[in-house]
Amino acid sequence: MALISMKFGGTSVGSLEAITNVIKIVRDSLAAGNHPIVVVSAMSGVTDQLIASVQDAAVGNKWGYISTGQKIRDRHEVIINQLTKPGKNRETVVQELAALVVQHGELCQAVNVLGESTPRILDAVVAFGERLSARMIAAVLRDHGVKARAYDAGTFLVTDENYTSANPLWEETQANIDARLKPALAEGVVPIITGFIGQTRDGHITTLGRGGSDFSGAIFAAATDSDELIIWTDVDGVMTTDPRLDPRARVLPYISYTEVGELAFYGAKVLHPKTVQPIVGKGIPMRVCNTFNPAFEGTLIGAEMRPSESVIKAVTCVKSVSLLTVSGKGMIGVPGIAGRTFLATARAGGNILMIMQASSEQSFCFVVSDSHAGHSKREIESELKAEIAQQNVDTVNIRPSVAIVTVVGAAMQGTPGVAGRVFTAMGERRVNVIAIAQGSSECSISFVINEADLQNAVVALHELALEVVPS
Ligand code: ADP
Ligand code: ASP
Ligand code: MG
Repeated sequence: MALISMKFGGTSVGSLEAITNVIKIVRDSLAAGNHPIVVVSAMSGVTDQLIASVQDAAVGNKWGYISTGQKIRDRHEVIINQLTKPGKNRETVVQELAALVVQHGELCQAVNVLGESTPRILDAVVAFGERLSARMIAAVLRDHGVKARAYDAGTFLVTDENYTSANPLWEETQANIDARLKPALAEGVVPIITGFIGQTRDGHITTLGRGGSDFSGAIFAAATDSDELIIWTDVDGVMTTDPRLDPRARVLPYISYTEVGELAFYGAKVLHPKTVQPIVGKGIPMRVCNTFNPAFEGTLIGAEMRPSESVIKAVTCVKSVSLLTVSGKGMIGVPGIAGRTFLATARAGGNILMIMQASSEQSFCFVVSDSHAGHSKREIESELKAEIAQQNVDTVNIRPSVAIVTVVGAAMQGTPGVAGRVFTAMGERRVNVIAIAQGSSECSISFVINEADLQNAVVALHELALEVVPS
C-alpha cells in the first residue's frame, strides 16, 4: 500500500466546490489502495484576515477583531452544514471551532490590553486558520466514510523559537512522528494535519513562514517515508512562468528538485522555497496537481536533471527589492568586510537574495527586500563606522525598486550561449541589466533590472522558454 502525503492549499480548501473535490481526491486515493496523509492550509484569505485582526487589536479596534473571528467561524460553519449530516459529528466540530474562535478573541483581547503584539502572539493567532480548517476537513471526510482525524502539527513538528519563520528540529520531530503518527497510520487513520504550524519544545505555537504549508507537506512526507508527495493547488502544475504575468504560461510535465528550488527561491509562489529540502535526500517524488482538474497529471518533480530543447524552462521574478552597494578604494585586500556587511544585514532582518562582486574588489553589491533596505544600510554603516571614517569604505548606496529576474533550465549547464541569448533578448527590448549572477547549481541565471522593466523582460524571456515546450 503506497503512503501518499498530500497537501491542499488555501484555495483548495477555500470553497464548497474545492472541498467537494478534496473529498473525492482523498476517497479515490483510498479506493486505489493508497494511504493518504493529508496536510491542509487555512481557507484562502483567512491567514491575511488573522494578521489584520492582531493589528486591529494592537490599535484598539475591538470590533474589528471580534467581527473577523465571527466571519471566519461563519465561513467554516456554512461548509460544515453543507457537507455533513446533522448529528454528533457535526455538533462536535461546530463546538470545537467555536471554542477556537473564542480563544482567538481572548488572545486579541490580550493584545488590545497591552497595545502591542509580539511575534509569538502573532504566530498563535495566525495558527487558528489551519487549526480550524484541519478540523473542518476531518469532520467533512468522516461524514463521507473516511476514518479521518484532525491533528495540530505541533503534536509532531517541533521547531526552534524563531517565531514567524521557525525551523524544524528534525530528530525530535522524527521521534514524535514515529511514536504518535505511525501508530495512528497503522490503525488505518487518515490524519488531517495543520500545515504552516509547529510548536517549540516549551509548547508554544510557531509558524514556518508565509506559504509554509508546502514545507509542512514535505516534512511529513519525509518523516513518514511516503512514496509520493502531492501538492494540490489551484493551477495545473509548475508552469513556464507565473500565469498572472503571462497568460501563455504552459505546464511543465517534469522538472528537477534543483530547478524547482531555484524557481521557488526566486519568487515562483507555487511552492514555498524550502519545500524540496526534506524530500531531496530520500528522493521522494513530488507532484504538483490542480484540485480543480484532478484528472490532469500535473508536474512531476524528481532528482534527475532533464535538459529541454528550449534550454530555458521557466522564468520567475522577485519584485520590490533593493540593490545595496558597498564600495571604497580601501577595501582591496581587506578581509572581513563582506562578512561583517552580511552579518549586519542579518541583524537588520534582511534576507540576502543575491550577491555580486566585481573582480577589482572595490565594490560588491547584494539584494534585499525594499522593506529591509534602509535598516540594513544603517546597520552596515554602523558596523563599518571605522572604515568609513578612514575613507576606506564609502557610504552604502541603495538603489530601490529593482527586481530580480531568474531563468531556470537544466541544460544551461554546459550549453554555451545561453547567457548570450538571455541578454540579447534584454537588449532587443531595451531593458537595462544592472547586475548579473549565475547560481552555483548552474541551472539558473539571475539578474537585476529596474522594476519598471519587469513585465517587458519576463515576457521576452518567457518567449525563449515557450519556443519548444512539449505540449
Ligand atoms: P496554494 O494556496 O495552493 O498554496 P499559492 O497561491 O500559494 O497556492 O500558489 C499557487 C499560485 O502560484 C498560482 O495560482 C499561480 O498564480 C502562482 N505561480 C507563480 N509562479 C508560478 C509558476 N511558475 N507555476 C505555477 N504557478 C505559479
Ligand atoms: N496559510 C498560510 C499562508 O497563507 C500557509 C499556506 O497557505 O501555505 O501563508
Ligand atoms: Mg502556497
